Amino acid sequence: MSDVPIPFARPWVTDDDRAAVDRVLRGHILTHGPECTGFEADFAAFLGPDAHCVSVSSCMAALHLAYLSLGVGAGDEVVVPAQTHVATAHAVELVGATPVFIDADPATGNVTPEGVRAAIGPRTRAVSVVHYLGIPCDMPGIVAVAREVGAHVIEDCALSIGARWDGVHTGLFGDVGCFSFYPVKHLTSGEGGMFVTRDADLAARAARVRGFGIDRTHAERSAPGVYDVAMLGLNYRMSELQAALGRSQVGRAGEVLTRRAANFTAVAGALSDLDDVRLIDAVDPRASQSHYCAGLVLEGPLAPLRDRVAERINALGVGTSVYYPHPVPRLRWYRERYGDPGDRFPVASRLSDAGISLPVGPHLAPGDAERVGAVVRLAIGQSRP
Ligand SMILES: *Cc1c(COP(=O)(O)O)cnc(C)c1O
Repeated sequence: MSDVPIPFARPWVTDDDRAAVDRVLRGHILTHGPECTGFEADFAAFLGPDAHCVSVSSCMAALHLAYLSLGVGAGDEVVVPAQTHVATAHAVELVGATPVFIDADPATGNVTPEGVRAAIGPRTRAVSVVHYLGIPCDMPGIVAVAREVGAHVIEDCALSIGARWDGVHTGLFGDVGCFSFYPVKHLTSGEGGMFVTRDADLAARAARVRGFGIDRTHAERSAPGVYDVAMLGLNYRMSELQAALGRSQVGRAGEVLTRRAANFTAVAGALSDLDDVRLIDAVDPRASQSHYCAGLVLEGPLAPLRDRVAERINALGVGTSVYYPHPVPRLRWYRERYGDPGDRFPVASRLSDAGISLPVGPHLAPGDAERVGAVVRLAIGQSRP
């Protein structure tokens, strides 16, 4: 067995990617250019028919734009998963709305239609979900519950590029899907994100808010400076350099997903007969997941030993992570605003406190996934009291 450490994640950047960025640098257009529109078109084609894409500077920006463009704000409540990246909740706070946190299903780490229904009240204006570790939520069920009360649906798809429910890509069920191209995610543009919607008017509105609220694009101006501003806006644009990299990466999405699936299967196989551990995975036959990582959960006598097991795994040369280290309501900003959650989110807390995220990315060389599995077995054996 090789002893070169295997990191949790490493961006996969090829000569083609480098050439694409270099071509932009040799030209004169660094923003407002054809790479962004090309990336938007290519990503829309990857997602499927009806997708309108607006490239942005991050997934956080896409989430913020979603609430700004839909007009969600002060006095409104938004249902938010407790087990997610803080960005999912921060976007709600930033527009002055109130997050109402809900717990997850233990098998998938996802919120459920029943969980959403129980959190809906007279002030609910939107429901947000995260496709946890790339496992799609039951979106038809969640959208149906939200529509009963006229609430919008925002999907945080930062980990779900390639994840589908009944063949339909995540991000195309609700009003807006928000994607991330941060370096450790499935595809990267360095930093970057995509605002996705099936509503062409909403896409146009989001594109204006993205660029200071200016009422026409460079291409739509009859002369430089001929524009007006009738709304507030931000600068959440992606640069041409980032778009060229992201666009080049989208061309390899199929290969990325195939390699991740094979690595996940190898890691799962190596751990299948171990006691007191389980892997988070899709359980519904309609769900096909995108294998962001192998989400191991320690149970029974192993659960309190998570830090020790993770340290052993790292010492044996395999990088790990935790998705996510705390349920959002346990983070200080949220505790100070809404009080200590205590044990109100037992599943989210278990995923945070007893979970270990293992690498399955395309940076793994042949044999590495088997090595990850073997290292985890060994580390667990060494950690048992
Ligand atoms: C990584 C992540 C984000 C943040 O993405 P950025 O592109 O860095 O803003 C948001 N939501 C989830 C679920 C994430 O995992």
